[in-house]
Amino acid sequence: MKRSSEDGDGSRIIQPQKRNRTRSGTVDLDRLDCPICSKPFTVPIFQCDNGHVICDSCRPKVIKCPFCALPMGNNRCRGMESILESVTVPCRNADLGCTKYVPYGREKSNHEKEHCKFSLCSCPEAELENCKHTGFYNDMFFSHYRAYHLIKEDCFFTFGESKNVRMLISEKSLVLTTLLRSLMFVMQCIRERNGVYVMVSFVAPLSPEVEKFSYRLSYSYNGKETHTHGPVEMKNVLKVSFQIPQEEKDAMFLPNRFLRGDELELELCIKEVV
Ligand SMILES: [Zn+2]
Ligand SMILES: [Zn+2]
Ligand SMILES: [Zn+2]
Ligand SMILES: [Zn+2]
Repeated sequence: MKRSSEDGDGSRIIQPQKRNRTRSGTVDLDRLDCPICSKPFTVPIFQCDNGHVICDSCRPKVIKCPFCALPMGNNRCRGMESILESVTVPCRNADLGCTKYVPYGREKSNHEKEHCKFSLCSCPEAELENCKHTGFYNDMFFSHYRAYHLIKEDCFFTFGESKNVRMLISEKSLVLTTLLRSLMFVMQCIRERNGVYVMVSFVAPLSPEVEKFSYRLSYSYNGKETHTHGPVEMKNVLKVSFQIPQEEKDAMFLPNRFLRGDELELELCIKEVV
């Protein structure tokens, strides 16, 4: 059934009624791609006077319809747009175990970009040792890291307990883990002209289904001055990056005058956020 309402000039505007009926089936996804550039359609979709459809980015390049030579006006194909908006497809990580569905065609959805808990993480040594391995966040330490990379003997810690961590600034990163769970945390030193940024990240997707952690760092200089950072929520990263942190809360900054050569000794405490 359709509902109608009186418009100002007395004409009737029909508003489609939503009945929220969904049923799963199959659709040939090629039909949802632009026949000219083969990229997935996005709204708006345009059609010629004969009903042939083309995408928004191809539209300005075409005067006559490439299929029937009728003028390619500015007529939208609302029916096709509405079908497109209703189509969902399995997440690209479906083969890895994800059962979520995402809208077809739009730029990678947030879910696929970083929120899918099945997203593969890069080995923390991707940049420094050029390791190409990718894997699940909750298994990479035991299944890959400990077999292929040098593990520091004091890389193990316990949640909620402070731990003394020593590293060389020139080493740039230190992988930390727990004995009970195969999770990887990376403490990084990022050198800048005036000092060093120190931060800790969790190698994992940003998914709401993935556990969250906070950390607190403290650094003592000459046994007198103590600098602390946090507790702050730890960033989850699919790949460790060595870019200078954008926000103050993302790292502790130690100016050069507080440093004693290349060695850095800090107290670190990582807690689970419940
Ligand atoms: Zn196109
Ligand atoms: Zn046409
Ligand atoms: Zn997914
Ligand atoms: Zn690796």
